[in-house]
Amino acid sequence: MIVLKIGGSEGIDYDLIADDIAAVVNEGTPLIVVHGGSALTNKVAEQLGHPPEFVTSVSGFSSRRTDRRTLEIFEMVYCGQVNKGLVEKLQRRGVKAIGLSGIDGRIWEGKRKDAIKVIHNGRKRVIRDDYTGKVEKVNIDLLQTLLDQGYLPVLTPPAISYEGDAINVDGDRAAAATAAAFQAEALIILSNVPGLLEKFPDESTLIRHIPKAKIDQFMSVAEDRMKKKVMGAQEALAEGIGRIVFADGRVEQPLQRAIAGEGTVIG
Ligand code: ADP
Repeated sequence: MIVLKIGGSEGIDYDLIADDIAAVVNEGTPLIVVHGGSALTNKVAEQLGHPPEFVTSVSGFSSRRTDRRTLEIFEMVYCGQVNKGLVEKLQRRGVKAIGLSGIDGRIWEGKRKDAIKVIHNGRKRVIRDDYTGKVEKVNIDLLQTLLDQGYLPVLTPPAISYEGDAINVDGDRAAAATAAAFQAEALIILSNVPGLLEKFPDESTLIRHIPKAKIDQFMSVAEDRMKKKVMGAQEALAEGIGRIVFADGRVEQPLQRAIAGEGTVIG
């Protein structure tokens, strides 16, 4: 089993990725796809007059401020346009793709954060009406039933809290939790960079291999959003995933290249 996370940033080529998913699925490799949609969500939020706001946690992680209206816009984009667009591309290529959010069938369940502590203009602030959280449980039975029937699950945030609220969760970390739940042989994270760069944005400084024992040292190399990916990798390693690859989602055969070890291989 391979878990593939496709980023939502500008430049990622969904057609090339869909071509490659079809090729890999046809070879008989079991796959679960997870995708993002952050860049398009930002655009749509602007257009709807509810511009995105990002908050930085006291531990230095940036995340989307998710009030109820933001959650609705997030669902329109992630569960709507991006998810159905990708499923359509895959169906056109003969893949039995089925698009589901983490809410559906409680595929991703977790804890809603009742208060998030953030730094705002240099001062600590507590936000209480945020719909965010972290995936703690994966509905393996449901996903396995779909896989057994030959379907390719195409998953997207949000997840669902134990109380039944939709929660915005980080896609990379949700993919890591899914890979861990299945004890996948690899977690592949495609983004609009060739991998983790020693000196972002200089692509010639690509880090090709990070041994498991050294992952903590690389947290400082990653800035803002890349930090979440490194954190997802840390979590996946801790849960026994042997191989995580950060790879380029803008090239031909992005999945097969990543499987072959092109990008940043962790583990
Ligand atoms: P996605 O939406 O594809 O999941 P993100 O935009 O969240 O991806 O994260 C990838 C981004 O992280 C890159 O486009 C880049 O701007 C940023 N980044 C920060 N530090 C690094 C780094 N050291 N190496 C690579 N990318 C980095």
